[in-house]
Amino acid sequence: MGRALSVADTSSGRYRALSLWHETADDDWVPRPGLPGSTEADVAIVGAGFTGLWTAYYLAVASPSLRVVVLEGEVAGFGASGRNGGWCSALFPSSAAGIARAADRSGASKSGSGREAATRMLRAMQDTVGEVGRVVASEGIDAHWQQGGTLTLARHPVQLRRLRAEVADARTWGLGAEDLDLLDAAEARARAAASHVHGATYTPHCAAVHPARLVRGLAQAVERRGVTVHEQTPVRAVRPWRVDTEAGSVRAEVVVRATEGYTPVLVGERRTLAPVYSLMIATEPLSDDVWARIGMAGRPTLTDARHLIIYCQRTADGRLAFGGRGAPYHFGSRVRPGFDREPGVFRQLEKALRELFPQIGDARITHRWGGPLGVPRDWHASVGLDKATGVAWGGGYVGDGVGTSNLAGRTIADLVLGRQSPLVDLPWVGHRSRRWEPEPLRWLGVNTGLRVMSVADLEERLTRRPSLIARAMAPLVGGH
Ligand SMILES: Cc1cc2nc3c(=O)[nH]c(=O)nc-3n(C[C@H](O)[C@H](O)[C@H](O)COP(=O)(O)OP(=O)(O)OC[C@H]3O[C@@H](n4cnc5c(N)ncnc54)[C@H](O)[C@@H]3O)c2cc1C
Repeated sequence: MGRALSVADTSSGRYRALSLWHETADDDWVPRPGLPGSTEADVAIVGAGFTGLWTAYYLAVASPSLRVVVLEGEVAGFGASGRNGGWCSALFPSSAAGIARAADRSGASKSGSGREAATRMLRAMQDTVGEVGRVVASEGIDAHWQQGGTLTLARHPVQLRRLRAEVADARTWGLGAEDLDLLDAAEARARAAASHVHGATYTPHCAAVHPARLVRGLAQAVERRGVTVHEQTPVRAVRPWRVDTEAGSVRAEVVVRATEGYTPVLVGERRTLAPVYSLMIATEPLSDDVWARIGMAGRPTLTDARHLIIYCQRTADGRLAFGGRGAPYHFGSRVRPGFDREPGVFRQLEKALRELFPQIGDARITHRWGGPLGVPRDWHASVGLDKATGVAWGGGYVGDGVGTSNLAGRTIADLVLGRQSPLVDLPWVGHRSRRWEPEPLRWLGVNTGLRVMSVADLEERLTRRPSLIARAMAPLVGGH
């Protein structure tokens, strides 16, 4: 007699159990039909995360007759797009100075200096937050969108010095107080009553979003516009004008690689991006009384100025969703479902959250999950279309892909359609990071970088001076 299937055994049950967001997406997670056999399309997109779906969306809007096919190995929103911290921000993983330097080096800033190109990039990122909000509204996507900005707390004097320096640097790029403001301790505490607050910065250029609702809503929006989405169709290789799957090949004039942290699994792409895991936890819904003591009215996203990134959002249903880096990179750029859950990192996150907001008392942690991000060797995200092969790409966002992927989708669509828009002249277009080192150097480099960031935080707490370790290692571990 066959064993009765429990909900978690079915693939839709497995998808629903991936994260808080998957569970609360109001979706049955039943996979769409896979690719039935070999076919042809105008554009074939690999990956149904934000990058793939935004690309499909803008192509379908601009050219409704285009045959666009999306091939997804699992289901739309299976990857980082369904699991993230839900910050739709104007952040870009490389600093403005880094963008300017790269643009000067490559000559990408055809119409001006690298500095001018970097400024255009900053403004394009800010506009992107508004653009995502616009589409969420116009497509009727119930993604719990709220543009409450971002508070970055300084929780000891060294962090405050770093925030002051960041604001001073922002001013040199033409960003005023309306873009990034410095708050004193009382102002900061009034917005978020975290422990040990010495001050903060505030930027309005970020929205809190329920990421799985956004990505699933986008998948439906592209289907309404005639795009075909095939799920449970893993792609083996992205080749010139063709993608290969078990079920057959899709020939297309343009093939878009939108696989981010999973890219190393594709034939020939092992050293393109390093998959680094970010992990999250979420509390049960907190009472109004607890929220009255915490603040965060208007649902600003929240972080502090430590080196080993943490990020937090007040969810629409009154939880704290809290995440951070610190999980190890796995030898050979392996990506496995088991890597999403590291008990030691979950414990560290819980400790950090309870220390940040003692007001939550013994509130239960109800969800724990994680997923892979894509990290390029130079930490500089990029998009592009290689006309010699018909292969386009977008990614390398590190932890800043929710907003950036929208800019990627709009830009790839313009590149595919040959439109001379201001977007195709942005300095990240056509940028190529060098490849990661072969193992074991890659393993050593990435894990050393991750370890350095937590040691640097400890060093600053103990010495009360900016970390020398972080400064010494910055060129090796990227700018974020
Ligand atoms: C825990 C966590 C928290 C984060 N928090 C934030 C945040 O708050 N703000 C922010 O801006 N960014 C955040 N990020 C990063 C952000 O989520 C990603 O940069 C962004 O979602 C990337 O979107 P994507 O579509 O390029 O990749 P993904 O969402 O990873 O999508 C890639 C898709 O491709 C599919 N795929 C992969 N390989 C194949 C193949 N061979 N064949 C077919 N399909 C394939 C995958 O199944 C997946 O669905 C976070 C990431 C994580 C993991």
